[in-house]
Amino acid sequence: MSGEPLRVDVAIVGGGLVGASLAIALQVSNLRVALVESVAPDAAAQPSFDDRTTALGNGTRKIFEALDLWRELAPTAAPIKHIHVSDAGRYGFARLAADEHDLDAFGYVLTNRSIGAVLRRRLGASTNLELRMPARCTRVEIFDDHARLETDPGARPLAAKLVVAADGAQSQVRLAAGLPAEVEDYAQVAVVAHVAAARPADGTAYERFTPQGPFAVLPLADGHYGVVWTLAPEAASRVLAMSDADYLQALQAEFGWRVGRFLRVGQRSSYPLKLTRAQDVVGRRVVLIGNAAQGLHPVAGQGFNLGLRDAATLAEVLVSTSIATALGDRDVGAPQLLEEFRARRSEDRAGMLRFTDGLVKLFGDRRPGIPLARDLGLLLFDLSPTAKQAMSRLSYGFGGSVPRLARGAALTAGQSDSP
Ligand SMILES: Cc1cc2nc3c(=O)[nH]c(=O)nc-3n(C[C@H](O)[C@H](O)[C@H](O)COP(=O)(O)OP(=O)(O)OC[C@H]3O[C@@H](n4cnc5c(N)ncnc54)[C@H](O)[C@@H]3O)c2cc1C
Repeated sequence: MSGEPLRVDVAIVGGGLVGASLAIALQVSNLRVALVESVAPDAAAQPSFDDRTTALGNGTRKIFEALDLWRELAPTAAPIKHIHVSDAGRYGFARLAADEHDLDAFGYVLTNRSIGAVLRRRLGASTNLELRMPARCTRVEIFDDHARLETDPGARPLAAKLVVAADGAQSQVRLAAGLPAEVEDYAQVAVVAHVAAARPADGTAYERFTPQGPFAVLPLADGHYGVVWTLAPEAASRVLAMSDADYLQALQAEFGWRVGRFLRVGQRSSYPLKLTRAQDVVGRRVVLIGNAAQGLHPVAGQGFNLGLRDAATLAEVLVSTSIATALGDRDVGAPQLLEEFRARRSEDRAGMLRFTDGLVKLFGDRRPGIPLARDLGLLLFDLSPTAKQAMSRLSYGFGGSVPRLARGAALTAGQSDSP
């Protein structure tokens, strides 16, 4: 469709967990923002707001508090008070207790659907947002001084000073911007389900490393458990095809009796696991955030937390930095702003990519001697307060500059808080 484009400062493509959070964070500014999301927010098939569970770290909690979203999220959040990590069939294990680290919780488990519901309520109440949902971004053309976006036929095109790709691991915007990404297939599939057990969830998260991949049983606020069972592709197909009774039996055999008998299971869904890593997170008039920038293995529950720190940093760079406010014409796609975003995200991003990828490969390695070394590592970890302390700080990121929002501080236009 043609016609005079609607001029905006920032066009966000993708209103999943990360893109929606950015649109909300930018509400404090007077930037003209458009958000384009292809799936209707209440559609059962919304890929970002599905039945998966997401463990939110303390840094994420702080960001949601600063955005005044936490009050609504808290009733559906299950605090993780203890973490139990083990190596299936071996003796290596580690236990962590939040109170030993002066923390209320290591993090909070919520369903993506409940986070999505809160985000979309807030988006719906936004006044200065061009919200196109459902609308698919079908074309992006990049020029020196703006980017032109077409959304579904019939809609007015958008002319944006900056396009934010928040359109997931297979980002079309990333492709249109010519930003290459490496993809590594882990040859693992996560089979996800909600399960009821004889002993209701009590704040303990279990993570087991099995030869096929990690296996997590996470507490949910309603007393049920979120099970993320990572398997080789053929085994995952078998588990998906099982009757409920057979699934519960297989789960019991894999996990044991720590939470008593598994009683019921909801719908199962599956996610093939890949590592997607864009070589660069900025291009001309384009920024990549969330899974569009990096899609991680869910082994340590860090993908969304990392993506939200992308969004929080970008919001800060756009809204608060001295550079932004010094720009007379407020060119939010100016190279120096994008460079600042890239620099501020590089350490956290690189560290988290290395950490999660390394964890998957370490625990998947069955070469002689490696499992023993790993067991020793877990035992030493169990005994070492310093290692545990470092682990509990992970939820604030992997180093580099912590976004203001993740320190619980609100964004205000004109504030300069660059490191
Ligand atoms: C099994 C599993 C468990 C996980 N557990 C955790 C966890 O415990 N903790 C954690 O932090 N992370 C976890 N993650 C990772 C987390 O789910 C992702 O990092 C997060 O969903 C990324 O959000 P996003 O908004 O960047 O991308 P997505 O969720 O992929 O959203 C992208 C959005 O863009 C939209 N879109 C795509 N193309 C277009 C287009 N052309 N036009 C308009 N809209 C478009 C899509 O409809 C979608 O809504 C897990 C992932 C998996 C697979």
